[in-house]
Amino acid sequence: MPAKKSTRPAARELLFGDLWEYDPSPESAPAFIEPRYGLFINGRFIAPKTRKYFDSISPRNEEKLAEIALAGAADVDAAYQAAATAFISWRKLPGAERGKYLFRIARLLQDRAREFAVAETLDGGKPITESRDFDLPMAAAHFFYHAGWADKLDHLAPGRALVPLGAIGQVIPWNFPLLMLAWKIAPALATGNTVVLKPAETTSITALKFASILLDAGLPPGVVNIVTGAAETGAAVVNHPLAAKIAFTGSTAVGKIIRHSLAGSAKRLTLELGGKAANIVFDDAPLDQAVEGIVNGIFFNQGHVCCAGARLLVQENVARDLTARLKRRLATLRVGDPLDKNTDIGAINSKQQLAKIQQLVQSGIDEGAEIHQPACKLPAKGFYFPPTLFSGVAQSHRIATEEIFGPVLSILTFRTPEEAIEKANNTPFGLSAGVWTDKGSKILMMASKLKAGVVWANTYHKFDPSSPFGGYKQSGFGREGGKHGLLDYAELV
Ligand code: NAD
Ligand code: MN
Repeated sequence: MPAKKSTRPAARELLFGDLWEYDPSPESAPAFIEPRYGLFINGRFIAPKTRKYFDSISPRNEEKLAEIALAGAADVDAAYQAAATAFISWRKLPGAERGKYLFRIARLLQDRAREFAVAETLDGGKPITESRDFDLPMAAAHFFYHAGWADKLDHLAPGRALVPLGAIGQVIPWNFPLLMLAWKIAPALATGNTVVLKPAETTSITALKFASILLDAGLPPGVVNIVTGAAETGAAVVNHPLAAKIAFTGSTAVGKIIRHSLAGSAKRLTLELGGKAANIVFDDAPLDQAVEGIVNGIFFNQGHVCCAGARLLVQENVARDLTARLKRRLATLRVGDPLDKNTDIGAINSKQQLAKIQQLVQSGIDEGAEIHQPACKLPAKGFYFPPTLFSGVAQSHRIATEEIFGPVLSILTFRTPEEAIEKANNTPFGLSAGVWTDKGSKILMMASKLKAGVVWANTYHKFDPSSPFGGYKQSGFGREGGKHGLLDYAELV
């Protein structure tokens, strides 16, 4: 709705960074990236049998960072052979011994956190403050948490025992490369399984650096194998006959392909797929806090977040006020070099992802929603997109239904809690949701009616390894983290 013209003169607004320019504050620690990486199979780096390599570039400035081995079917087979052989002794190791390896990995990750954070930011484009303060601490936390479980599995389900499944195939996306690796590898190892993991093709570097941590930790060869490549390599990981289970995080489209291809096999499957979360703001919410939560919900990691609060549902009587506050806050966000510690929004992960965002934003304009982007100068090289708001969005618009996976927020309104629930649940996804209100009873009522795996109340994007994460509907099935996550890597007997 168009704002009414005020008759009063506009008050001078003080914006942080308004009167002076920020000095650049680049992170200077070295990332120690090798010029070329082989495949990590059976405890050592080897050249791919395909003899092919592909480039991993930095979305920050399109510079080439490293050459990554392209694993073919024979390479994936070698990785599974190693994992299956290692499984024979790894599963017999007492839980306390497996736990020691996991503790070691966690501590080594902490030791090298700064180096890994820089590598993650260079390869994937996320702001250094996020890789430093979120991705790395959370990845280490997942290993610590599961290290603690390794010798206590008998207490997970009293009277029952957990039996590991075997060699697990794991395929992960590019938005949280190291963290998704941790979510996958830590519970698999804690429960006595071995692993063949494939990182995403644009962000393989921290997974390969992680292999050096495994070597330093003295992990037995073959317990973790890392194969790199794109969709074809992923399909080879998924379809290998030695895989006892496939754990996949990525798009709903690829999740469907995988589910099809596993039908009729004995392989277990967990899928963590896309989302289009509703972040719901009631008129009794503290609006300035809500603004911070909305900004964090959609602009964290450039919006490359499966559980991003991509649909803002705001109660109609505060919609104009909240939207105005949001626009003011948007003007203070700094878009640019992800290596700069002042940056709030870094680089879009890849050229293809940037094109997808641009296309969906164009559809929003074409379908009649009202776009708002603060004035900001984007770096000349690299892949960047400004923070974007759409108001006047209808439920039928593509920007309200499809996952954009970028820094783009669609604002819709509602009048009653019932309408909010109906609109929030009106999506094929169901990964997460946010609720902002002063009333505890309203939070509980909403949480019980929202079809979402996680519901955050008066906060957003809070994670903990002990808290299971996963979806409803086309956001997938299975849980990662907590007791539920462990049970998804074992047979209960
Ligand atoms: P994607 O599905 O294109 O790719 C994910 C991974 O699958 C990559 O490693 C890719 O190489 C591989 N892959 C591609 N085609 C394959 C095939 N046919 N068989 C096997 N593997 C294949 O997704 P993406 O673009 O990398 O990631 C973004 C998506 O991931 C978003 O939809 C996002 O919501 C989702 N995601 C979900 C979660 C969650 O926990 N639910 C977390 C992060 C990302
Ligand atoms: Mn890259």
